[in-house]
Amino acid sequence: MTSLIQLVLWGLGGVGAGALSARWNWWRQTKPGIPILMYHKVGNPPPGSKIRKLWVSQKKFKNHMAYLADSGYTPILFKDLYQHWDHQKPLPGKPVLITFDDAYANNYTDAFPILNQFGYKATVFVVVQTVGWDNRWHDPKTETRIPMMSWADLKTLQNAGWEIGSHTMNHPRLPQLTDDERKFELERSRQVLGEFLEETPKTFAYPYGAGEDDEAVRKAVEAAGYRIAAGIHAGKWTADRMKESPFNLPRIFVRGDENLFDFHLQITRGRSRL
Ligand SMILES: [Zn+2]
Repeated sequence: MTSLIQLVLWGLGGVGAGALSARWNWWRQTKPGIPILMYHKVGNPPPGSKIRKLWVSQKKFKNHMAYLADSGYTPILFKDLYQHWDHQKPLPGKPVLITFDDAYANNYTDAFPILNQFGYKATVFVVVQTVGWDNRWHDPKTETRIPMMSWADLKTLQNAGWEIGSHTMNHPRLPQLTDDERKFELERSRQVLGEFLEETPKTFAYPYGAGEDDEAVRKAVEAAGYRIAAGIHAGKWTADRMKESPFNLPRIFVRGDENLFDFHLQITRGRSRL
């Protein structure tokens, strides 16, 4: 079981009380709202990988899921969130959303089995042109090429109750595109996913979070037929945020170099570090 005291002691290990105050937000008040967790890669980074914070080891990922279970959280999907908003569909007592950006094959091989052990569902945001291939939008000098999920993998996740959302065709920075290019990235990705999965997604995530603060880009997301969109600003889902705009919902960036105490603070405060 994970009590706050245990977590605090865990955080204290090796760093000391002063550092605990200087580095972490433990003294901040708990914030209301629904945490939307953002993961990228699960497993160990391959040699040469430079963006290591995007990798969460299987051991850490399992500890996170155990923390959620011990704390009484129930994972839900974005469709539950907007159906709750639009049609008053009830939500469980302590909802949480687990999301994966980009649709790396390791989400399927390394995270899916762990989620199954807990009976948890998640949302994966797909870069449509890279399905069955690799993360070719990354500069290979800074991030090694690794395999992405196949259509069969995505179908299996869908059948297991996961939500499959769009993360564009090619992972561009949406504000830098022409109107036509942006329309293509948003509409075509939704259409292709709809054809392969026989269910057209209404959930979107901005590559790099780019465009989530840009009214014109948000309008384009809405015009493409999405109902809800996730950005990368730190924070939790609240009714006020949803009223303001359902097209730039904040998330909790789960970094591979953080510990379980960080995770606890992220979930309860919406952020961990100062
Ligand atoms: Zn991405």
